[in-house]
Amino acid sequence: MKHLQTIFLLFFSISAFSQKVTYNHIVDASDAETNEVMELFENYLASNPQNQEKNAFWNKEEQEKFKDYDFLETEFQPSLYMGFPAHVLSIRFINDTCQIKVQFSSCKEDGSPYVLAIVNYIAIKENGKFKLYNWLTYNKKNWPCTTVGLVDFYYPPYHKFNVEKAKKLNDFIIESCRNFGVQPERFEYYLANNFDEVQKLRGFDYYLGMGGHAMPSGKAAEKKVYCGGLGEYYPHEVFHVQIDKHFPNKHFWVSEGVATLLGGSRGKSLDWHIKRTNIYLQKHPEINLNNMLSLANLDNETAYHYVLGGFVAKKVKEKGGWEMLVEFMSSGKTDEDYYNAIEKYLGVKKPEINEYIRGQLQIEAKD
Ligand SMILES: [Zn+2]
Repeated sequence: MKHLQTIFLLFFSISAFSQKVTYNHIVDASDAETNEVMELFENYLASNPQNQEKNAFWNKEEQEKFKDYDFLETEFQPSLYMGFPAHVLSIRFINDTCQIKVQFSSCKEDGSPYVLAIVNYIAIKENGKFKLYNWLTYNKKNWPCTTVGLVDFYYPPYHKFNVEKAKKLNDFIIESCRNFGVQPERFEYYLANNFDEVQKLRGFDYYLGMGGHAMPSGKAAEKKVYCGGLGEYYPHEVFHVQIDKHFPNKHFWVSEGVATLLGGSRGKSLDWHIKRTNIYLQKHPEINLNNMLSLANLDNETAYHYVLGGFVAKKVKEKGGWEMLVEFMSSGKTDEDYYNAIEKYLGVKKPEINEYIRGQLQIEAKD
């Protein structure tokens, strides 16, 4: 999903964080409670929600529990609140709960709309005043939940819970945390056959990137993992939620590479991705891996940061075991740091990377 974020950045780098709120058609527009909710939402958007600082318009409970208390905010880079005008589509009351549906979109040069997302919020009264809540917090109550070990698994009513896979995931957590010397933590794991079902539960009616052929897909967030298509065992995202935060000084390719080495990507092992990447690179001798960090996706199943990042991590682990891999996890954030780490741990200088990787992938792909 990362490649989409680049598109947003390019598209909206012109915009400052100014958030305009408009309304499509609000039934009961003269109603006092409706007006209270309209004001609440406008105030929230005007409060720089992209910073996720203490906020008077969001409920206390979620703010105390989470650093990124608005779960929709981190879905896009740099933020859902990156400046797309917010257009409120509906405000609906059910008993003492209010649902707010909002479209974040802009107008392209030719006048056609460009929609980033259509999302839902909940507003409930806290001490007599409406406060915003995550759609997920409210609606996860409609999904069955089973706790196995460290994980609260949430799944749709049609899903038959697989205890064996849930135990396997816990084994993966315990083993990974031991290898990286970190303390395992409890978290929530949302699963469905299709990732968009999970997105819907989170409050996304639409998001840029929705659709296409169903493929295993996942996302890690603070104390939460969202997965589609692989049931109770999606180790890649679980690696992110358990290990990543303990190693802040690492390059994006280190994070994705180690996650793919240990947990695969899109339900396929690193070896599977290596084999198809090898074939692809043979057909494309013009691709220069000396600048591999500037490459994004090979196709919709394999991205370079997974497969080549995974390959580099694999080589580091073969060279120096867990100890060296753990050290590699703190090898710096910049592209230069990453190339330096390859030279330090694998003895390969930047101008030699293309030849080295192409040669090694040939060998690996034969196994
Ligand atoms: Zn990942």
